[in-house]
Amino acid sequence: MEIAALNGFKDILPDETGLWRRVEETARDIFARFAFQEIRPPILEKTELFKRSIGEATDIVEKEMYTFVDKGLTMRPEATAGLLRAVIEHNLLAARPQRRLFAIGPMFRHERPQKGRLRQFHQLDVEVLGGAHPLIDAELMAMGALLLAELGLTASLEINSLGCPVCRPAYRENLLAFIASRAGNLCADCQRRGATNPLRVLDCKNPACRTQVEEAPSILDHLCPDCARHFADVEAGLTSLGVSYKRNKFMVRGLDYYCRTTFEFLTSDLGAQAAVGAGGRYDGLIEQLGGPKNTPGIGFAMGMERLVLLLQQKENALAAASEADLYIAALGPEAVNACLPLAHRLRERGLRVAMDYEGRGLKSQMKQADRLGAAWTLIVGEDELKNGQAVLRDMRDKEQRAVALDAAQIASLLD
Ligand code: ATP
Ligand code: MG
Repeated sequence: MEIAALNGFKDILPDETGLWRRVEETARDIFARFAFQEIRPPILEKTELFKRSIGEATDIVEKEMYTFVDKGLTMRPEATAGLLRAVIEHNLLAARPQRRLFAIGPMFRHERPQKGRLRQFHQLDVEVLGGAHPLIDAELMAMGALLLAELGLTASLEINSLGCPVCRPAYRENLLAFIASRAGNLCADCQRRGATNPLRVLDCKNPACRTQVEEAPSILDHLCPDCARHFADVEAGLTSLGVSYKRNKFMVRGLDYYCRTTFEFLTSDLGAQAAVGAGGRYDGLIEQLGGPKNTPGIGFAMGMERLVLLLQQKENALAAASEADLYIAALGPEAVNACLPLAHRLRERGLRVAMDYEGRGLKSQMKQADRLGAAWTLIVGEDELKNGQAVLRDMRDKEQRAVALDAAQIASLLD
């Protein structure tokens, strides 16, 4: 009998690993530009760690964790808890009270598998520890937006504030009263959890609950002066960094540890509106886990499966619209003369090759290559020509390499 992989556990096959590497390399490059260092905590932790940080009454802890019940151990469902445990255990905040760390790797949640939702999935996770300044929040979101932009993806950013232990209790009372008044119209889940975790009612996906919630009181109207100022400064920071965003007063996020700023990067290109990344501020968590007092933190995680899916979709769409596999940008009359036979040899090999005979400037020829949806461009200038060389540019990831002006060699490089 053949043994198949587990449902929700996916093999990443050789055809896909290139895109995975592109996501990871782009992320590492951007994280380095923002002065983040890598940390690699283990995958298995004590169950208690996740209960104490994520919260007992959350979806993740209530029903999504892979737990070895007899051993009291759990496969990490997210990265923040283990990362903070490591930071505290190794005293990483002693020498440097501010740290920027990232972790990349698999997470495990027992949920119903579907497109972009797996039981083993991968996250890019970033955390800024020891800073409470609202511009850190704005900068972190700008970094997420830059990562998506450099991958060539579009997602919208939604933000909210969850207040803090000063203002949330009063809001919670308000919300509880509202939920009680609408209880009869809410789904069974919300009727049950409304009393223990009323914020969760706000992001219930049930259409009946969504209608009710439209009229729920907004936390943004209940922020204490400090939280209101923080939120306003975050918004001003985003604006000064040129990051567009939308307020979403119902975004609560499924983890207990968040306070103040929360945010999600959303895309509508994966079927239902889906989050490619999400995060928020967790100012009390480090202390709560036994770390140094008054150590604020903020972080986000992006789902790598969803990023890879979006890149695949984009490449398929580009390929479908493409009129040429290769565009030859010959710069100057001599290059044109040398390239025409090369184009012919490549066409004989079955490739769709476009070129321009006017020998125009590089910029206008690159524009033409984009218009034709060419996956590759071969750039041949007078200097390159003297050495029998050219530059082959992958239009998808903009990587360039030197190649000989030889049809067989060039054809073998185009995939
Ligand atoms: P969702 O609302 O989609 O369940 P979430 O709020 O549970 O997401 P987070 O815990 O914030 O997700 O994790 C951050 C990111 O990790 C998500 O935005 C998503 O891209 C990704 N992610 C979360 N769960 C999964 C999963 N089961 N499979 C694939 N990616 C996931
Ligand atoms: Mg989830």
